[in-house]
Amino acid sequence: MDGAELGAQLERIAHEVRSCERCGLHATRTHAVPGAGSAGAEILFIGEGPGFHEDQQGLPFVGRSGEYLSYLLNLIHLRREDVFITNIIKCRAPNNRDPLPHEIEACRPYFDRQLSLIDPLVVATLGRFSMRLFFPGASISRIHGQARIDGGRAYLPLYHPAAALRNPNLRHDMEADIAQLRTLRDEMRQRRAAGEIAAPKHEQKTLF
Ligand code: SF4
Repeated sequence: MDGAELGAQLERIAHEVRSCERCGLHATRTHAVPGAGSAGAEILFIGEGPGFHEDQQGLPFVGRSGEYLSYLLNLIHLRREDVFITNIIKCRAPNNRDPLPHEIEACRPYFDRQLSLIDPLVVATLGRFSMRLFFPGASISRIHGQARIDGGRAYLPLYHPAAALRNPNLRHDMEADIAQLRTLRDEMRQRRAAGEIAAPKHEQKTLF
C-alpha cells in the first residue's frame, strides 16, 4: 500500500470515529479525537482518552499533557509529525473519569485498525489503561520503561504525561524511559531489515 492509500484509509477511520455512536460517550463529546501524526510513523503513542482541550479541538494531547509530551519528544530529537498519537477511547469521558470496560471494548477496533495500517516498530503506551492492552495485569510502577518485543514489534510502557505533571517525582523516570525510544526504534529497524522478525499480523484479528 502506498503512502497516499495509507493516509486515505486512516482518514476513513477518522471519519468513522467522528460520527461514531458505538458507546454513550458520543452524547457528551464536543469533538471525537481519532488521532494525529504520520501515517508512516515508526513510533505510535497510545494514551487513555481525550481531556477538555482535546475534546474542544478534536486533536490528541493538546493541553498541558500534550505540551509535556512535545517536550519529551524534543528531548529525543523527535517532532510530533514524526510519530502517531492516539488514545484507547476517542471521545472524552465526562469529568475525565476513567474509561469503562464496555467503552474500551466498543472503541478498541478503531485503534486496532490504526495499528494494523501504520504498523509501527514501537508502540509506547502512556498510562495504565493503554499499558493493559499489551501488559495485562501489570503494574505501571513496576514495569515502566521495560520494553517487550513481541511478534515483530516493541512495546514500551510509559507513565501518562499527566501523572508526571501531577507528581514531579515521576518526571525523572518518565524522561529516562522515553530516552530509550530511539534506540529501541533503531534496533527494531535493524531486526526487521535483517529479516529476523516479521511485521506483526495479530491485530488484524480484531478488525471490523
Ligand atoms: S468513545 Fe469510541 S466507541 Fe465510544 S462513541 Fe467515541 S468513537 Fe465511538
